[in-house]
Parts: sequence; C-alpha cells; structure tokens
Amino acid sequence: MSKTAVKASKSESKNGTAKAASNGARPGLGIPSAPTMRNKPGKMVYYFGKTKTEGEAAMKMLLGGKGANLADMTSIGLPVPPGFTITTDTCAAYYKAGQRLPHGLMNEVHKNIAMLEKETGKKFGSTDSPLLVSVRSGAAVSMPGMMDTILNLGLTDAAVAGLASGTKNIRFAYDAYRRLINMFGDVVMGCDHHFFEEAFNKIKTKYNAKQDTDVPDQGMVELCDAYKAVYKRYVGEEFPQNPFKQLELAIEAVFKSWNGERAISYRRIQGIQGLNGTAVNIQAMAYGNMGNDSGTGVAFTRNPATGENAFYGEYLINAQGEDVVAGIRTPLPVDEMPKWNKKVYGQLLDIKNKLEKHYKDMQDIEFTIEKGTLYMLQTRTGKRNGVASVKIACDMVKERLIDEKTAILRIPAADLTQLLLPSFDPSAKKKAEILTTGIPASPGAAVGKPAFTAAEAVERAAKGEKVILVRAETSPEDVEGMHSAAGILTSTGGRTSHAAVVACGWGKCCVVGAGEIQIDAAKGKFTVKGKTFGRNDTISIDGGTGEVIAGEIPSVQPKMSGDFVQVMKWADKYRTIGVRTNADTPEDAQRARDFGAEGIGLTRTEHMFFEGDRIKVMRQMILAETRENREKALAKLLPFQRDDFIGIFKAMKGLPVTIRLIDPPLHEFLPHDEKSQKDMAQELNLSVEKVKQRVNSLHEANPMLGHRGCRLCVTYPEILEMQVRAIVEAAIDCLRSNIKALPEIMIPLAGTVKELAYLRTQVEATIAKVKEEEDYKPRLDIKIGTMIEIPRAAITADEIATAADFFSFGTNDLTQMTFGYSRDDIGTFLPDYLAKEILPADPFQTLDTVGVGQLIDMGVKKGRSVKEDLKIGICGEHGGDPKSVHFCHKVGMDYVSCSPFRVPIARLAAAQAAIMGQK
Ligand code: PEP
Ligand code: MG
Repeated sequence: MSKTAVKASKSESKNGTAKAASNGARPGLGIPSAPTMRNKPGKMVYYFGKTKTEGEAAMKMLLGGKGANLADMTSIGLPVPPGFTITTDTCAAYYKAGQRLPHGLMNEVHKNIAMLEKETGKKFGSTDSPLLVSVRSGAAVSMPGMMDTILNLGLTDAAVAGLASGTKNIRFAYDAYRRLINMFGDVVMGCDHHFFEEAFNKIKTKYNAKQDTDVPDQGMVELCDAYKAVYKRYVGEEFPQNPFKQLELAIEAVFKSWNGERAISYRRIQGIQGLNGTAVNIQAMAYGNMGNDSGTGVAFTRNPATGENAFYGEYLINAQGEDVVAGIRTPLPVDEMPKWNKKVYGQLLDIKNKLEKHYKDMQDIEFTIEKGTLYMLQTRTGKRNGVASVKIACDMVKERLIDEKTAILRIPAADLTQLLLPSFDPSAKKKAEILTTGIPASPGAAVGKPAFTAAEAVERAAKGEKVILVRAETSPEDVEGMHSAAGILTSTGGRTSHAAVVACGWGKCCVVGAGEIQIDAAKGKFTVKGKTFGRNDTISIDGGTGEVIAGEIPSVQPKMSGDFVQVMKWADKYRTIGVRTNADTPEDAQRARDFGAEGIGLTRTEHMFFEGDRIKVMRQMILAETRENREKALAKLLPFQRDDFIGIFKAMKGLPVTIRLIDPPLHEFLPHDEKSQKDMAQELNLSVEKVKQRVNSLHEANPMLGHRGCRLCVTYPEILEMQVRAIVEAAIDCLRSNIKALPEIMIPLAGTVKELAYLRTQVEATIAKVKEEEDYKPRLDIKIGTMIEIPRAAITADEIATAADFFSFGTNDLTQMTFGYSRDDIGTFLPDYLAKEILPADPFQTLDTVGVGQLIDMGVKKGRSVKEDLKIGICGEHGGDPKSVHFCHKVGMDYVSCSPFRVPIARLAAAQAAIMGQK
C-alpha cells in the first residue's frame, strides 16, 4: 500500500478531484480516503511521453498509482516507454453504465494511439513495423497481481510477420504472439491457461525441447497456430485480427478485473474501501524477450524484508515481465547483473538513487532491457514489513532524506506487532532437523501442518488448526489461503514472486523457492531429502533464514531493537496523550511497562477469580444463600485478590492503576454441562439439584444486558466491600514498604448518576473503614471513577461526572449497545456487511467515529462541562487500534489503554495523531 503523503496539485484541482487528492494517501495509515465520485468521468485519458505529459505523481486517485508515477517518471527524464492512462473515474462510469464503456472513450483511445504512433514511429496493426502495447491495471492503492495485464497487444497474423521481418527475429515475434494469444484468451475471454500449457507441451515434445527457450523458430510459428486453435475451440470464434478490437476488449477486461474475486478478497483483507476503480495503462511495449541481450526484472530500492539499504531484486534474461512476478521461472538476483551487463546495472543504480531522492521513500520498480537499452515500466512505494518500515524510516532520517515527523508518519503503527513477534529459540533450532533452506522472503517463525491448496488452508484454519500453505508457487487466486495460513512455503519463485511480495506486505512468515521440496498436492504430501510430510506432520519455517524444519520449534520473545527504541523515543516526544495498558496480572503489568505503558487503564478483577482454587471459592460465594455465607466465601477470596494487587502495584512502581470492580454476570462462573455440575456439587458438598437450581436461577435471556457491572454491587454490597478492602489493604501494605501504590477504583456499567453516587458512597465508606482498621493516618488518595459504556451514561455525562473523578470509555460495550450488535455474535453477519461495504470496518476493532464517536465526543464535552479537569481515557479494545487512537486524540482524551503488546502501537499512533493534527 502507498505510504507516501501527497498534496493536491493545481492541475488536479482543476479536474475537480482536489479533495480526493489532498487526502490521497493518509500517511502511516496507507489507505486513501474516499474519492469524490462524479457522474461523468470528465477527461478520460492522460498521455505521457515526449510529446506531452498530462499527469503527475499527486494524481494517484485519478490515474492510479502506476499511471501517476509513469507520468512522473517521464517528467523527471527517466527512460519510460510512452503511453496513456485511462482514469479510475472512467472505470466507475463503466460500472455505473451497467458495465459498458463510456461514450467517447474509444475515440479518445484512437487519438492517443495516433499520438503514440507518431512518437514511436510505429503503426498499430502495421504489417512492417507494428506498434505493440501493454495493457495494465493500476488502482490508487497497489494490489499486486490482483488485477489483469495483457502484453504485446496489437499483434495479428499480418503484424507478426511484419514484426519478424522488421526485427529479423522470427522466434521473438512468434513468442510475443503466443504470449498475447495466451494472455488475451485467459484474461479477456476466460480460456483457462492450462489449455495453452497443454498445446505448448506437445510442441516441446515434438521438438525435444526441455525449456521454452529451446523451441526453434518453426516450433514457435506452429505454437501460435496451436494457440489460435485452442482460442477458437474455447471462445467459439477466431482470435481477433483487428488491433483496436483487441484493445477495446482488453480495456474492458481490466475494468472487470476490478471486481474479480481475487481483487475483492484482497481489498477485504487489506481493509481497502472507498476507491473508484482501477485505471488502465496502455504503454508502448519494450521487449525483454528479444534475445540474450534483453531481459526484465523487478527490484526494490531497499530490502523490503529487513530494510537494509541495498538494491534488492531479480531479473530474467530473455523474458517478459510477467515471468518474474508469476514465480514460474526462478530468476537471478540483481547483484549478479554486472556479470551480464555492467552498464545497465550502473544505470539501474543511478535510477534507484534518483527515485529515492525524488519520492523520499523506498521504491518498488519494474524494468525491461531491450537489446541492451533500459526502460522503466513502473515505480511505486515499495511494500515492506514492519521490521523494514522501522529501519528504513530511521535510516532515511540519518541520511537526511526525511525528518523525524515524516519518519513517524511512515510507519504503519499496526505493523509494529511484527517487531514484537516471537522467533525460534536458537538453541532449540540447533538441535532440530533442518530439512532444506529456501529464500527468506518475509521474517517470522511459523509452525503448522501443511495445507496444499488455498481452499484447504482456509477450511482448516477456520477450524482452529495452524497450517502452513505449501505450494509450488502462489498466484493471486491464493490470497485467502495465504491470509489464513500461519506461514507460506513455496518450492519455486524468487524474492519478488507473488507469494514473497504479498506475504512481506502482510508481515506474514514466508519462505519461497525451496527447490528441494517436491510437492504432490493431489496426494496431500511433500517430499524433501527422502522424507515425506503429510497433512498431519508439523513443520516449522523461519522466514528470517529460509530454513524449513521438521517438527515444532519453540519460540522466544523478541527484544526491542535499536531502531525500534529510537522510533518509540520519537513517538514519546511528539505524542500528547498518555498510553496505559489493560492488565490483570503482575506479569502483564511488567511486560506493558517494558513496552512503555504509563499506567494501567483497566484491571479486570474477575479474571483473578478464574485461576486455580479461586474458582471453587467463587462458586461457593455464588451458591451461598445468605449474606453471612457469602461473606465467608469472600473472606477466602480476599487474600488472593490483595496479593494480586500488591504484585501489580509493585510492577507499576508508582504509576496509576485503575482497578475495575466485578463486571460479568455471576452465571459465567458456574458450569453449564451436567458432568461439570456434578463435579462441582461433589466438590462443594452440595446436591446436584441445588447446583442446577442455582444455575437455572441465574440464567438470563440477555446476560449482556442483565445482572452485571455495578448492578451486582447494588445487589451484593459485600462483593464491593471485599474488593475495595483488598485494594486498600494492598495499597497500605505497599506504601508501608515504601512502594508507591496509586490505585484508582472504577465502577463499571453505570447508566445513571444515582447508581454511581450510591456505590461511590459505599466505596468511600469502605476505604475509610479499612484505613481506620489498619490505623493508617497519611492521606490515601484513591480516585473513584466510572466506565462510560452505556449510551445513557454518555448522554448524561454531565450528571455522571458529579459522582466521578474520572471517566474511562468502555467502547466494547458502548459499541455493542449503540449499534445493538452483540459483541459475541457479530461474526454471523459481519462478513456480509464488510463485503457489501455496509460497514467500513468491524466496529469492535475500529471505532465507529461517526456514531459511537458522537457519544464519546458528547461524553467528553459534557463531563468536562462540570469538571474542567476530569481525567478521561478509553479502555475498550479500540485503545490499541491506530485509527481509533487518532480519534481519541482528537476528542481530547488524556490517555488510551490497550493490551500490553499494543502499547508500542498506541504510542506511535498517538504521535501520528499529534503530528497530523498540527498539519
Ligand atoms: C468495554 O466494554 O469496553 C470494556 C473495556 O469492558 P469489557 O470488555 O470487560 O466489557
Ligand atoms: Mg464493558
């Protein structure tokens, strides 16, 4: 995805898309904002070349990333074959018109082809010097391999003869023609690639050729006839001999591919919404398949897996572009290029530097060498994983290419998770059996059982199994399976193959080109070094080294690298809101502190009741019929709870700790199946009937809206008393040993000021009582606050604030109650809502700023209207979601609180919000 910040240009404003362009790509988030949709596409075609160049880098929303950058590269004098781009608005108009090309489009295309003919001195469809073009898709956000490409378009029976005589290269001409028939048949007409493959194999057998390149001239001519026969058999008509007809159908096919299954899946997985469609780029061909002085390649200006500042990529001699990306032939690394063509390698390095200086970011480029002449076919912001993002941002600051703020905005905050992933324990790995080593394409440590098709990976992963997708190569159709798998292993393909690029962008562990592995997908097994592994055998893959290992290797926790620490320092320098953590144990608290948490925003005390013997006592308490018996059970829970709090206070060393009183309905602590109920009856020395009776009496039709949260303490004040006592005793114990303890008591699920005020009085009374019993004289400053998680609480926040020292937005419940979506059951309909773009994202993951956000905004404003310095935070899951953190910053919260592993993400997102707020 694009990570470049772009500004609207004057020329784009004229086109009426300035709004879209100025938001064109949100730094750090990577997803462009919704474009302005217009009824008429306006100017539909933009030319780039020596004659004139109409587009520029800032026009990504209109021209797609590829089109905008082709224009831009042309403008800065790089060797780009000329061409033109049909806008994304045209694609939108195509769909609006019921999938019909807009009126006047082909006229425009004719005019631009004429310009291209003039500039290249070649003629479209000519018999002696035919102009051939590539037709490629390109949306505003890059979607590698998800949409369609057609090369060598314009070749016909007559033109191919002309191309052969003009270039004096029969093999080349017919190779180009067979590729066109194949791609056109496959992409435009839906004729499956394997029909062409079969025809090719027959010719190879006839000519005793091992490789495609061993087929002689005559064989290539025959191959084209065979392909045309395949085409006719499948499509029911001859391969089109009118180049403009080819072009029209190809343009339409690219538009159609925008809504192809794999493109839709990719957008869903990446959360890409609100785009207009794809642009279509039509560009004069440069031929990488004109012989051994020609070739094609793909490269990154820095290593996308590690961030290392080294040119990184691959090329293939005598090949066309798609051969590299498809992972069909394993290409050579670019650093071996000097052996083949030193001059071109030098030119590429110059261009790499020029591009980085120009775009001030790492680029992913595509190039072709035609008879020793280099042509640039694409540049775009390179996808990279979290590790590389951090390193590249830090290095670029050192190299003075960007400043600290830009560096912060460059790193997608959520990708930091990848730096916090465990890796294989080196000592365990030493003892393990390394089966083979492939190319390390995307770091990480994945363990799982092999799945041999994407569908199988999806199905088994859905059942909770950890699978490694093992394939010869992956194709864009496999994205769902790749996403579901714990890791990806392929036997062919290089660093820039589809699997590598996609996995790297996702930060998913991936090893490619492990050539020693022989896969028999039909039989569900693979063999390596004489050993066979099936669906039930566990393997481990190391995406950092490329090693494939038998069995399960244990993992170790990561250490924060120097660059990571640097980024965190910058983040802390620029952010203006605090970051706390949600932690229920001293271990979690310590981990979060190590990650930079500045306090605990939520301790869910009920989690402490599930451990070991405690659940038994808890059940005793729930089953007790009198207050006296309940108090007896609670007295047994008290020391556990007190010790837990002491542990947490010690870990947090003087940082505030917000402790929430019991929240879930009591039935959650009781067993519901017969056997467990019997066991429990025995354990507690009660009759099974008694247990059943109590379970039934606690049953609620809607427990989420039932007897839970502060309602429990209204009914059973002794629970509140025990919990508050444990907190105060723990605090006094710590303070007496010189450990600064700063508890804050939080009352959940309050909806009216009366229930909050009622409970507050009880909390205050208990604090006073314990202080007295303990004979503790110094001031004990324990703040008493509430969660705002019921819409009524937000709406009446000015009243609620009179009884609260602080607010913490419980956005899990607030989202549930605002939408009326059950947080436990949303999975039944959410996929449909996302696929149909009814919802922009899962509202339990990313805050619904439009609806729930209004309640939060109102809650903050109303709360502070009565208490100016009311401390306000958030402790729902959204507290660790970058987009939600931006919102929390905007509405003026004091802090966000999230799970320990998301603390670094929240720190970075908070800094991004602050920096973007200044702009
Ligand atoms: C919330 O509702 O947002 C919250 C933090 O509480 P819980 O998830 O425990 O209901
Ligand atoms: Mg809640």
